[in-house]
Amino acid sequence: MSRELSIYIHIPFCKKKCIYCDFLSFGECDIIRQREYVDALCKEIGAYSLIAEDYSVVTIFVGGGTPSYIPAEYIGKILNKVRKTFTVSADAEITIEGNPDSLTADKIGEYRKLGINRLSIGLQSTNDDMLKTLGRAHNYDQFIAAYSRAREAGFSNINIDIMSGLPGESMESYVKTLGKVVELSPEHISAYSLIVEDGTPLADDVDLLSKLPSEEMDRKQYARTKLLLGGAGYNRYEISNYARTGYECRHNLRYWTGGEYLGVGLGASSYMKLSIGKDYDTTFIDIEDEYGDDYEYELQHEYGDDKDIKLYEDNEVAGNLTAVRFKGIDNIDEYIGRFSKLGTGWTDVSSIAEYINNCYTAIHVQKEKDEIEEFMFLGLRCISGIDCREFEKRFGKDIREMYGAVIDKYVSSGYLVVDGERLHLSDKGLDVSNTIMAEFML
Ligand code: SF4
Repeated sequence: MSRELSIYIHIPFCKKKCIYCDFLSFGECDIIRQREYVDALCKEIGAYSLIAEDYSVVTIFVGGGTPSYIPAEYIGKILNKVRKTFTVSADAEITIEGNPDSLTADKIGEYRKLGINRLSIGLQSTNDDMLKTLGRAHNYDQFIAAYSRAREAGFSNINIDIMSGLPGESMESYVKTLGKVVELSPEHISAYSLIVEDGTPLADDVDLLSKLPSEEMDRKQYARTKLLLGGAGYNRYEISNYARTGYECRHNLRYWTGGEYLGVGLGASSYMKLSIGKDYDTTFIDIEDEYGDDYEYELQHEYGDDKDIKLYEDNEVAGNLTAVRFKGIDNIDEYIGRFSKLGTGWTDVSSIAEYINNCYTAIHVQKEKDEIEEFMFLGLRCISGIDCREFEKRFGKDIREMYGAVIDKYVSSGYLVVDGERLHLSDKGLDVSNTIMAEFML
């Protein structure tokens, strides 16, 4: 029986760089570079025919960067390659991210023809001065025009991204953004706080930094978001995400609930359960411990350095799935150079293990400890929290055996709530979620 898979496709091109952005993306890349990248990306996807029959693709997310910046024809090429390689479910959620200045009527129409059924538009603010300050390439009128075109073209599942915590922005101006967005009635709203990332122009702009709202104001804006969006019928289902009932982003929910996903493109991350063995460098030490478990697994605990890990095809473990995280290389020249050669010689691969070893970095074989920690902190990001029975089913342990003391501490102080078999953060807990989640690290 096939397993469910989500695919993330990274398009690292933008019209220009926003001043706060530390995403892996480039402003003003020429069309030839874009084409070379898309060709390499298609080869990268094609190599997964090695394991594609194990999967049914349930969500696809074309993100970036700004996917709407590149020709729609390239998006078509990529999605066709996905469909040629994998079985994509008839009801798959297929999202594309776009910015108002490049979401032309032609592109939007093409996206519909390609079966894309969810559009995520980066608005950030309805205040043109603020958009200019942030270095965004669009203004509010362009956003309204793009949003209307998307509705006219038949998009019935639209997300709008907005941001709080902007430099010099008053509560009044932020509330205006919320109000105008709610008036449009999109199905989904993502509302993140601006984060100052090292190495961005914003991080060096003393004047703008001095205008950032205080922590208290930031919290007030967050509280106002909850109040206004909640009052307008949006369910907050994750710390920063709100949706009309039934329109929660299925792709993101799979990240937060431990679903398998494949990330393709520059620097994209993957989490997959593969029928593979694991090794260090090129040496495999074939010892079993007293429980019959692979001893090399233990070696990883003691000496493991992710960059030295090599996966290998091992018939012994066939059918025994191992959770692995790995990442695409983040240098675009190297990326194009490497993947464009696939199928032409040294990079021909006969097994998924060999392919991952050759083409990816940060290969990490998940230990049970990693899986448990991720189950907890990803699950607690969701407003519905985690299911304690699911924990037991997955790990064969009672959650209280592992976390009883932490759970008691935060339940008695009102930060965590036990609701039947579910455990979730309270409103108060969500405000300090990072501190609480840190205590679930083993
Ligand atoms: S559009 Fe998005 S990805 Fe591109 S530079 Fe701006 S924030 Fe970064």
